[in-house]
Amino acid sequence: MQIIQKGNAHTISSSRDGRIPCVIVDHISAGTMASMDAWFTSPGNEVSSAHFGVSKTGEIHQYVPLDRMAWANGLTVEAMAKAAAPIVRQNAPINPNKYSVSIEHEGTDGELTEAQFAASVWLHRFIRDEIKRLYGQTIPLDEQHVIGHYQVDPVRKPFCPGPKFPWKQLYEALKEEAKVKKEETVEVMVNGKSIGTGYVDSGITYVPVRAVAQALGASVDYDGKTKTVTIKGRG
Ligand SMILES: [Zn+2]
Repeated sequence: MQIIQKGNAHTISSSRDGRIPCVIVDHISAGTMASMDAWFTSPGNEVSSAHFGVSKTGEIHQYVPLDRMAWANGLTVEAMAKAAAPIVRQNAPINPNKYSVSIEHEGTDGELTEAQFAASVWLHRFIRDEIKRLYGQTIPLDEQHVIGHYQVDPVRKPFCPGPKFPWKQLYEALKEEAKVKKEETVEVMVNGKSIGTGYVDSGITYVPVRAVAQALGASVDYDGKTKTVTIKGRG
């Protein structure tokens, strides 16, 4: 997966004022990806932004850097008391934008395409890993720390990210990795050089195939339609 940088000089953001991001908030864009790109980079937009957008085709766009605050989950202090998410009530009167990372999803009712769901799962993990790298703190990818905009602002945003947003599948996918993490991870060496980490599960060693193949001078092709990985060696 790759992240395409789309933010520009007009993209609105502010300082986090020393707050460390501790929660990921999911949103629905209620429009197309193209309109999201246009709005978050428009000189006329002085009211809203998000860190990321995920398109129906599974493309990830970034508008605001993680060490800056995006304008996505603003609340009055009075409204914080009405938040459904405990983390928002507990952090009152701090503006939730200061300690959150926001992901917009292209769509209207929360239904995600398969590619969009996969990209979003990847992005949640990427954010966790980047926050760990930048701040040394881990955002647990659970129900308390991965929430919907409707849990921040149930009064004004009850339909964000929408009734069809796949919360159950998302939490399951995010937990699935945690299970793997508990298994034995291994360093993968190719001809004396470390090319990354793999893990052992039920006696099978899983390794990053592209890195291994490339270290051996082979090429790797992935066909998303047929779900086939093809490795071509030199022999
Ligand atoms: Zn929202």
